[in-house]
Amino acid sequence: MHVQASHFIDGDYAEDTDGRAFDSINPATGEVIATLHAATPAIIERAMAAAERAQREWASWLPVERARVLRRASDLMRERNDALAKLETLDTGKAIQETLVADPASGADALEWFSAQAAGLSGESVPLAEGFAYTKREPLGVCVGIGAWNYPIQIASWKAAPALACGNAMVFKPSEMTPLSALKLAEILMEAGAPKGLFNVVQGFGDVGAALSTHAKTAKVSLTGSVPTGGKVYAAAASGMRHATMELGGKSPMVVFEDADLEDAIGGAMLGNFYSTGQICSNGTRVFVQKSILEAFLTRLAERTKTIRLGDPLDPETHLGPLISEEQRRKVLFYVEAGKSEGARLVTGGGVPEGEAFAKGAYIEPTVFADVTDDMTIAREEIFGPVMSVLAFDTEEEVIARANDTPFGLAAGVFTRDLARGHRVADALEAGICWINTYNLTPVEIPFGGVKQSGFGRENGRAAMEFYSQLKTVQVALGKVDSPY
Ligand code: NAD
Repeated sequence: MHVQASHFIDGDYAEDTDGRAFDSINPATGEVIATLHAATPAIIERAMAAAERAQREWASWLPVERARVLRRASDLMRERNDALAKLETLDTGKAIQETLVADPASGADALEWFSAQAAGLSGESVPLAEGFAYTKREPLGVCVGIGAWNYPIQIASWKAAPALACGNAMVFKPSEMTPLSALKLAEILMEAGAPKGLFNVVQGFGDVGAALSTHAKTAKVSLTGSVPTGGKVYAAAASGMRHATMELGGKSPMVVFEDADLEDAIGGAMLGNFYSTGQICSNGTRVFVQKSILEAFLTRLAERTKTIRLGDPLDPETHLGPLISEEQRRKVLFYVEAGKSEGARLVTGGGVPEGEAFAKGAYIEPTVFADVTDDMTIAREEIFGPVMSVLAFDTEEEVIARANDTPFGLAAGVFTRDLARGHRVADALEAGICWINTYNLTPVEIPFGGVKQSGFGRENGRAAMEFYSQLKTVQVALGKVDSPY
């Protein structure tokens, strides 16, 4: 694949071959699809300087003018949906039937929705004894975005759209595993009329992310990544009193009560464990099922799981492509072994599919474990692969306590036909987002983010605007200054 250059800075592609070379690999075939260079200090300085310049200009535009650019960018992204989906499938290995509907589409939604937020940006007016005060939301300045590899263009867009809507500029570092699609977002924003330098992409590994997080010009860092990386990036951001949003990992519970619609609950559990080959932060990987329906649940779950088609992710019939890398497969297989050796019952999957079609990719079967107990490794640690743990429970009180017994708090789900119980349980679950009778939907209109170790700050929804702006208060006196001096 021809990539013009590794980085995108000040409105154009940029290269510095002194940077460490690295390959972007198609996880389905093992083929190198592009070779890029990690950012050198010179590249980082150029990107930060360009962003600083562009931000000053952009912040002086009327909100409605900024809105227009984001709106045009969303249109361009939709027009290019198919090509972007294919690029994402080549870079991540995710099935094309997913990327065609979920990845650039979600990015375009964010650009469109935050364009409306940009146009509607306003503050409040507060009447006072002798005068009044007003507040306004001001941009932070240059924001750094750092992405994970599971939803590359979605993550870049979910960060860029609210950041730009608030009048900030962004320097974005994609994951080194999936460097390509963020460059396309940069092209789109420039074509849509953004000032040069408003959205820049620099490539590299953790050290480049760390250099950006501690750069003197950086006002905010927004990371999507694992909890250990979050700890480092948050500490680095704190060292300069920078704003931070941390979208981190999870081990989310999904609770299925005996009165739930069984097929819906099973569908939710499958989507919440197998979509994107299980590589989703908010997955409901601990599925608590009430004992009275446990065997019926497992029987149908196994039947339906066996119908999942693994294969070439570019084939529109394929449900699941490979994992992102061979290393990730080793990690997932380690957890499968841990599940078996610690006494969980393997219901289906657990292996590597055989045959020539699977020989070159990091494929793994969708896997279900039953008889999982709370202390097992597979019930405690994030696996980031298509491995579902099913745990049995008796009472509501018990399941809430067990569901919350985790350092993570990203997401949670409850399936029940009892309206009051649905709300009661959602209320009690310690998670940034809870779903009742569905799972893993993240429309741009609603805030998304974690509590506890899963992070803080919110993406999407009006809430995201608060995390990319700061409040200024202006008090206006209408009387005389009452001075005793
Ligand atoms: P990761 O933490 O290994 O890397 C994430 C990004 O951080 C990469 O771009 C990496 O280069 C960069 N990085 C690494 N060390 C850094 C440092 N010291 N300073 C600055 N940047 C650094 O995560 P990953 O393996 O790419 O992604 C999987 C993880 O992401 C999972 O834990 C998953 O749950 C999480 N995730 C969370 C969300 C969410 O919205 N909450 C979404 C997707 C993925």
